[in-house]
Amino acid sequence: MSIRNVTVIGAGTMGAGIAQMCAQAGWNTSLYDAFPEGLERGMQRIDAFWDKGIARGKTTPEQKQEWEQNLHPVNDMEQAVSSADLVIEAVPEIPELKQKVFEQLDAYAPAHAVLGTNTSSLSISAIANATRRPEQVIGMHFFNPVPIMKLLELVQHDSTSEATIALAQAAGKAMGKTTILVKDIPGFATSRLGVVLGNEAIRMLADGVASAKDIDTAMVLGYKHPMGPLALTDLVGLDVRRDILRNLQSSFDDDAYAPHPLLERLVEEGRLGKKSGKGIYDWSTGSAEETSLE
Ligand code: NAD
Repeated sequence: MSIRNVTVIGAGTMGAGIAQMCAQAGWNTSLYDAFPEGLERGMQRIDAFWDKGIARGKTTPEQKQEWEQNLHPVNDMEQAVSSADLVIEAVPEIPELKQKVFEQLDAYAPAHAVLGTNTSSLSISAIANATRRPEQVIGMHFFNPVPIMKLLELVQHDSTSEATIALAQAAGKAMGKTTILVKDIPGFATSRLGVVLGNEAIRMLADGVASAKDIDTAMVLGYKHPMGPLALTDLVGLDVRRDILRNLQSSFDDDAYAPHPLLERLVEEGRLGKKSGKGIYDWSTGSAEETSLE
């Protein structure tokens, strides 16, 4: 099946970026948000991204005009998905909300439509089972910022069909992404490895193996990571990473995933990373500065 009409549900950080890439792929793209101001903000963010591209000489005004013509903000969900071949959901990470949205998508979208979810941690099968077409449901995990990050992690649950996987792979390719295919196991591939590396780096810091900067430099220069695991933990948010670790710990019933006590303490103290000004590093100057963990 070929893709002509795509609908993105949720116009926040991720949804706006996904809709932008869909419009750039040449698809007739509808962007829906439950809140008019959310939809407006998402449209503005896309517009600003394209304008920046023009200012930098990466995009032409003609190109922007063409992409704009592909993109339609829609305030009504039923209307937004009524002719969709592919729907990509990017609403907040709340299980009951995702399930409710998928019930609605199932009711409103054409029978042939594939339904993708951008969840970063929830069970795909639990979301799929809210529909009467679980074989047409797949995880489509994009990364932030969507227009820049090349990875699309596709997550198949037990009954995701081959045709659904093939369509999601083709969609990813058309959006300029490299896809990987993983099973519906908590943490998928990316989150699981990412949090384990970050948690181990925090353990090493607590054990006094080296300074935060030196632990990060070890991975940047020794393993060619673009950023060290401690700085990355600060960027993602210590609370977010702690929650993912706790989720893995309980899902696998394995304390190997238990958040390190230092991580727990920093979260309790409100040191959540860059967003709160301080985490493992002090970000008050705008860049990562070594600071006391006492
Ligand atoms: P966000 O809060 O920026 O955006 C969510 C949007 O959904 C908001 O505009 C909100 O108004 C809208 N919304 C709320 N309820 C809705 C509904 N019922 N129907 C339609 N729209 C609704 O969130 P985000 O960061 O874009 O995250 C969205 C999803 O993407 C989550 O599942 C998250 O786990 C996942 N994700 C986020 C990131 C990230 O770095 N932010 C990375 C990968 C995956």
